[in-house]
Amino acid sequence: MVQYVGIIGAGQMGNGIAHVFAIAGYDVLLSDINPEALKKALAKIKLNLHRQVVKGVITDDQAKAALGRIKTDTTLAGFSEVDLAIEAATENEQVKIAIFQDLCPILKPEAILATNTSSISITRLASTTDRPEKFIGLHFMNPVPVMKLVELIRGIATSEETYHIAETFIEKIGKTSANSEDFPAFIVNRLLLPMINEAIYTLYEGVGSVESIDKAMRLGANHPMGPLQLADFIGLDTCLSIMQMLYEGLADTKYRPCPLLVKYVEAGWIGRKVGRGFYDYRGDEPVPTR
Ligand code: NAD
Repeated sequence: MVQYVGIIGAGQMGNGIAHVFAIAGYDVLLSDINPEALKKALAKIKLNLHRQVVKGVITDDQAKAALGRIKTDTTLAGFSEVDLAIEAATENEQVKIAIFQDLCPILKPEAILATNTSSISITRLASTTDRPEKFIGLHFMNPVPVMKLVELIRGIATSEETYHIAETFIEKIGKTSANSEDFPAFIVNRLLLPMINEAIYTLYEGVGSVESIDKAMRLGANHPMGPLQLADFIGLDTCLSIMQMLYEGLADTKYRPCPLLVKYVEAGWIGRKVGRGFYDYRGDEPVPTR
């Protein structure tokens, strides 16, 4: 049974995953190599819990109890105790493989190992671990406390037992799972990212400005966020990694990442998490950067 959950990577996704497991009564160990990321993650969790209290979703006591269940660490030593480890570090295959190499000797033999990757092959990642049958893709959506869906992805070796355990804890944390087969970017990002990439091409080719592209899709297609706003929200580094994975994994030029997306990433303007992307977030109101 899963009671103690360890999360590696305390960025946008890691803090949200810690939040939802803690609210559901699980003990959580959140780790990151960057102590600043851990500080920011705890502050963000506190803020989001407070928001839920104000909205009447949870009580103040529940928020305090949830926060009390979350421990943080810059090392993986405490992972010897966890029943489930969820990797939510940077979307880079080499980074993830290096984490699994450090992590696997520490984990209990029966612990389940999951990855929150947006696009990398679950089968390939699993093959770098000592437990492919206990390895699974758990693709949470951003922001985790708000979004209902978790995509569940089996690698070729994932056991039925592992899949069933994952379905059970996803239900316990109040989320709904959808099964996706293990192909590049799974379902949600296979559909979403080409649209975002095409929005960046329309900007690149001068079809519209940042403002008009986002307004057009908000009001013309009834999307809650414009595609460039959404790209900033996801993180342009993550968007580029996903497009590269689609381009290489499916060997089809229709997935070619837009050169303007590459340029923004090279500039370090990777979206909301750094204060600048297609919009500049450093003032009171977001201002388009093109
Ligand atoms: P992020 O850049 O906000 O956070 C990544 C964190 O990983 C950083 O805090 C970094 O310090 C940490 N990290 C890097 N190397 C590490 C290591 N070796 N050990 C421990 N921590 C390490 O990224 P994010 O948006 O939270 O994305 C994390 C994962 O979740 C990626 O695989 C991404 O594809 C996936 N994902 C992202 C979204 C999204 O909308 N952003 C949605 C679903 C899934």
